[in-house]
Amino acid sequence: MVKQEKKRILTGIRPTGSLHLGHYVGALENWIKLQNEYECFFLIANYQVADYVDRLDIINESILEIATDWLSIGLDPKTSHFTVESLVPEHAELAMWLSWFVQLGRLQRNPTLKNEIDALGNKPPSLAFFNYPVLQVANILMPKAHLVPVGEDQLPHIEMAREIARKINKLAGYDLFPVPKALVGRVPRLVGINGPDIKMSKSANNAIYLKDDEQTVKKKIMQMYTDPTRIHVTDPGKVEGNPVFIYHDAFNKNTDEIKDLKERYQNGKVGDVEVKMKLFNAINTFLLPIREKRNYYDQNKKLVKDALQEGSTHASKVAKQTMKELKSTLKLGY
Ligand code: ATP
Ligand code: MG
Repeated sequence: MVKQEKKRILTGIRPTGSLHLGHYVGALENWIKLQNEYECFFLIANYQVADYVDRLDIINESILEIATDWLSIGLDPKTSHFTVESLVPEHAELAMWLSWFVQLGRLQRNPTLKNEIDALGNKPPSLAFFNYPVLQVANILMPKAHLVPVGEDQLPHIEMAREIARKINKLAGYDLFPVPKALVGRVPRLVGINGPDIKMSKSANNAIYLKDDEQTVKKKIMQMYTDPTRIHVTDPGKVEGNPVFIYHDAFNKNTDEIKDLKERYQNGKVGDVEVKMKLFNAINTFLLPIREKRNYYDQNKKLVKDALQEGSTHASKVAKQTMKELKSTLKLGY
């Protein structure tokens, strides 16, 4: 029997690449803050990659990359459980049972899913694609999580987790699952380097990664989308919705510098290069300690693999317990 002393967090990432600045301000910052207050299950969702069937090679590589990123930003595998979804196959079993509780139309109306299906272009979505939010609900309910710290795009999925938890609790006749709450980060949806309308995303090729080296970060920032209507340095520029200033607000700790840059930008008194160089300095300062820790874990891969193995073993025990309770309460299975 696994004892539960604190309320739990479950949250996750798809292993479709390594971690970027959007993950940090949208979700990871809260994970770091809450890792001692809650018992945390940090999950690498390697079942939820239906749109990557023709690029499966990057999935296994990304599992290690993401766990290395987690260690580099200071998540502690001694107190939190780094979990690989497929090492706990109960996730798939629970998702199968839960899918009976969700109408297909409910998924077809899910706005995040709709956007992601649009992004597939001509490729028709697979059945697994429609089912991934249900898998996510299974991830959340499995450790009976109370809180799910995520970026804004995940809110429709958490709403579904709340609905399903309530349905099952009603059938069970008691609160078998807590009704989980979402917690959205400081920047709910960080835009990509290529413009204000697109979310920074591993699959959109518009991200600054936590592991990017200095030169790569500089190059990406220098190429960043700014205010397309501003042709000359002396033209007054727009600050609102301008990705360069969104990033300044998110990563530059020197608020006087931001204020000065914004004023001069709006009055046509500063060029893009100065604004971007100052942004580069701020982001590079933020990334330096993460990069340093990453070097250490890159050279000590066993620590990364052990963290994943130990976390998954613990998550597996918790999963077996939840499944046993669910099945005996609802008389599922044989
Ligand atoms: P993919 O393109 O493969 O979907 P992703 O970059 O969207 O990758 P996910 O693994 O889907 O990353 O998301 C992991 C977590 O990070 C989720 O909680 C998500 O809401 C959050 N997140 C992802 N991108 C951003 C962003 N640009 N701004 C804020 N939060 C984000
Ligand atoms: Mg995503």
